[in-house]
Amino acid sequence: MKVLITGAAGFIGSHLCDRFIQEGFYVVGMDNFLTGSPDNIAHLFGNKNFKFIEYNVVNYIYLYDKIDIVLHFACPASPVDYCNYPIQTLKVDSLGTLHTLGFAKKKRARYVFASTSEVYGDPLVHPQSEDYWGNVNPIGPRSVYDEAKRFSEAMTMAYHREHGLDTRILRIFNTYGPRMRLNDGRVIPNFVGQALQNQNLTVYGDGTQTRSFCYIDDMVEGIFRASIKENLNGEVINLGNPNEYKIIDIAKKIIQLTDSDSKIEFKPLPEDDPKRRCPDITKAKKLLNWEPKINLEDGLKKTIEYFKMKMLEKI
Ligand code: UDP
Repeated sequence: MKVLITGAAGFIGSHLCDRFIQEGFYVVGMDNFLTGSPDNIAHLFGNKNFKFIEYNVVNYIYLYDKIDIVLHFACPASPVDYCNYPIQTLKVDSLGTLHTLGFAKKKRARYVFASTSEVYGDPLVHPQSEDYWGNVNPIGPRSVYDEAKRFSEAMTMAYHREHGLDTRILRIFNTYGPRMRLNDGRVIPNFVGQALQNQNLTVYGDGTQTRSFCYIDDMVEGIFRASIKENLNGEVINLGNPNEYKIIDIAKKIIQLTDSDSKIEFKPLPEDDPKRRCPDITKAKKLLNWEPKINLEDGLKKTIEYFKMKMLEKI
């Protein structure tokens, strides 16, 4: 079986390449390195079950290989990244989604779309289940990501309804772990980088906003199951860890785990920053027999080790 993974050099994409290869699949990875890094897939070069194509999927996709599953995971995913690349973000999850869907249709492949908890915006319902329609500002700074993902979901469902394409939309909640970029701007790399350098941890707002953090290995397990299981045609599934934490408590935990002298510094809350976020994963439990297994402390320890190693490499 062959899969195409877009965003293959990204954080989640590169872990998916590893997992599919490990499971005996042939993987074609595509990435244009806008926010992904060759370092994340360097270990796969030379693997006979891996082919990499440097390509921007906002362009029409040509590929002669037979492909069984297309996973569209290309897209800047950190608020800092997508605000730095607003138009690229909108394009990859509009034109890129169109081209990957058209490609899947031509190849008669299954289509797995990496959607996001951001489709719920700043949610008014808690926790968020798949039937909640969201509370999204269509013109705010985060809209480039949120609306592109919402458009992609609509496009994916249109291909499913009109062409009978076997599609699965996965709404991915905050995920962390090795291969995130230290400077990607997301809260865990920021705090770990700051703590390891004994700098102040920058908590935005008063830190009472919440997030629920899923360790990458758990997330990859969920995505893999949702990709290979039969009879999930047209489903939309939340994937994330339902344990909810205040951002200030994450800061304290990271200071403790790194044994750092850092202090906490409060900075302004970015515009439209969601106040609460927590997935309802009842559906994933039922359909995939999946739930996260790695607790925050263990996941953070592994992530801290990774960032320590990355910082040493730079010296
Ligand atoms: N955040 C923070 N300090 C940072 C980076 C982020 O307090 O240095 C906060 C941010 O305002 C948000 C939460 O942490 O409330 C998660 O932010 P992230 O950028 O990781 O992703 P989001 O969940 O907002 O997409």
